[in-house]
Amino acid sequence: MKALTNRSKIAVDKEYTFMERLYFPAIIKGMMITISHLLKKKATLRYPEVQKEFAPVYRGKHVLKRDEKGAENCTACGLCAVACPAEAITMTAAERKKGEEGKYREEKYAEVYEINMLRCIFCGLCEEACPKEAIFLTDEIVKTSYDRQDFVYGKDRLVEDMNKRIDITKRQKKY
Ligand code: SF4
Ligand code: SF4
Repeated sequence: MKALTNRSKIAVDKEYTFMERLYFPAIIKGMMITISHLLKKKATLRYPEVQKEFAPVYRGKHVLKRDEKGAENCTACGLCAVACPAEAITMTAAERKKGEEGKYREEKYAEVYEINMLRCIFCGLCEEACPKEAIFLTDEIVKTSYDRQDFVYGKDRLVEDMNKRIDITKRQKKY
């Protein structure tokens, strides 16, 4: 066959020894490596029966915090949405009405607040940008789904449940 260029090189040009032609030493060497791994500590877990402990700095699903009286901290300023590099946050602001002081801490609140978890990269910049300590990333995992719409989290899934308050102080400490 005629070569198209003269750039081709022969990578290996050595005569195999008798032992190399037998293949047995290479097979035994491979088996020894496999057996040595059997004796080592396993790197894998029997998930979901056994679950790995998350690092204290793990950032998962967001929470929109309430104050001690149960009023939502968020004032719909939009700084988190501006800071978000993935453009995952959208919101609609509304004016607080008379008698709603117990529901919303500030005069303006987020009537609609949505995070698209498929866009989110869990960088935590929304948390850093928030001047009202209203949004935090927690150690909760975003649940899987076959429906893309399930990943758009609204206030029903983001606002803190007063009966199951989320402790976000663990991640705020310096380790
Ligand atoms: S964690 Fe990052 S990517 Fe996710 S919503 Fe916040 S700022 Fe956007
Ligand atoms: S979560 Fe914080 S930064 Fe985002 S709109 Fe609410 S108050 Fe503003």
